[in-house]
Amino acid sequence: MRVHALFEAFLERLQDRDGGLALYALHAPEAPVRCGAGIASARSMTAEAFAAAHREVSENGAAQLPRFVAGPLREHPAAAQERVAWFEVEEQHTQRRLYVALGVRAADEELRVVWCTPSDEILPWSFEDGLLQSLADYPWLRRCEPVAARALLDAGYFRRYWRPPLAISTLPDTRFSCQMSSACCRHDYEITLPPEAQLLIDALPWARLAPPLAGTRLPVRTDGMLQLKSPEETCRFLGTDSHCRIHQALGRQPFGACCVFPFSFARTPEGIAVALSPICGSVRRGLGIAPQERIEDLRERLVHAEPRSCEVFRLTPERAIPWVPFRDIEKGLCDCLAAEDLPLRRRLYVGARLLGALAEGSPIEVATWQDEPVPPLRDDLRAAIHGMLARLLGWNRSVLRELPREIPADLAQREASDPAMLAAILRNTLYSKVYSYPLDLTSAHNYLIVLYLLALLMQRSSGGPLPPRMWRELGSLGVHGLLKTMLNEGMPENFRTLLGRSEFGVWLLAA
Ligand code: SF4
Repeated sequence: MRVHALFEAFLERLQDRDGGLALYALHAPEAPVRCGAGIASARSMTAEAFAAAHREVSENGAAQLPRFVAGPLREHPAAAQERVAWFEVEEQHTQRRLYVALGVRAADEELRVVWCTPSDEILPWSFEDGLLQSLADYPWLRRCEPVAARALLDAGYFRRYWRPPLAISTLPDTRFSCQMSSACCRHDYEITLPPEAQLLIDALPWARLAPPLAGTRLPVRTDGMLQLKSPEETCRFLGTDSHCRIHQALGRQPFGACCVFPFSFARTPEGIAVALSPICGSVRRGLGIAPQERIEDLRERLVHAEPRSCEVFRLTPERAIPWVPFRDIEKGLCDCLAAEDLPLRRRLYVGARLLGALAEGSPIEVATWQDEPVPPLRDDLRAAIHGMLARLLGWNRSVLRELPREIPADLAQREASDPAMLAAILRNTLYSKVYSYPLDLTSAHNYLIVLYLLALLMQRSSGGPLPPRMWRELGSLGVHGLLKTMLNEGMPENFRTLLGRSEFGVWLLAA
């Protein structure tokens, strides 16, 4: 079969729900095809299993799967065992014209499909380049939006031309552009990848890119996921020039966690709320462009994210509230944190008083709360809170363990030396909903106050402006959610029930 006929047969069978067996037969044994939620070589599954899955995916997505019609062959492949042919194609639902590259291999005097991927233009790809670009669309094969893809061709089409139609909201004054600090590739968190990421890693031209990485096999975890990096590791794909080798080779980032960072997504009844991680220095310093100016980029990243979501919104552990008051209270707390004319400690105090008034149904008296003295704290409560903070410092985190364990007696008189940066971290933590979704707004605000106190303890230890690793630690504890685990372990039993009460926030500020 000549290459044009092969491509027409490929499209015809791809778009026929009963064409699975014939479609399978057009592939080379090593061709990456859909296998369950991921991809695997055609030879690793039977034709019957492939055909059954093809029928199911085709039926489920009948209305939204693209419908391609082959146009003329635009670039003739050189007569070699492995060839790349470029076709003009029209997608019928949208009448969009695009190009599709087909990578074929000649075997036993027959041409077989190895890969097939769309493009906006004809590019000078080698067979290996096209295979790599096709494999890099695997995250879109895993997603079921807008519908599950039949093949990497559909996945590539969705990546280029489909975006979740969701309204995106952000805090008003956040900024980010990547400054290549590579802090994200060194930070002490774990990154895992689905199994098919290994196919992509295998397809990278390591001999040219970084010969020592040739043959890299990522460790397989007990849950079947691949471990890109453990918390103690710097990612092996980070080059000495602080460039990601994967990104360099592909011109884009295919791995979900890398693609999403430094954004954090939370689903709301109105769309998606986007917060930023202060682990990134560019975010902390407010460098770059506002998220609202990169909405298309955010929609693409959103595909890789597992947005936080919530069934029931709560003001306190016992009190469910509708979304609109939850949203408005969260905004009130964020606005309060941004009130630069007040010391940060007082902003947190006003927030705690606001939450208390809302819980009790008493009057909102912000002007009074701004000036009233913080009530004195009983000595036994102060000792218990200092004990809780000391236990947090003993947690297995290198930055925390290097801080002195004894809590200064004048903690309640101390203030943040860089309130703007710390307030931005606290606002992003609240806006990310990392604590307010699984818990409630009052508990989440109390977590912010604990973060504030930890920042004061870091400040005392550093003796000056906080170094980047301390800011990053505050980011890990905040937007990345580590404080929840730590507080669960470090909190005295009788304090746990207090966490969702606003008076506990006032006590923390008086301790
Ligand atoms: S794959 Fe690239 S972006 Fe992701 S952690 Fe490694 S070096 Fe960083």
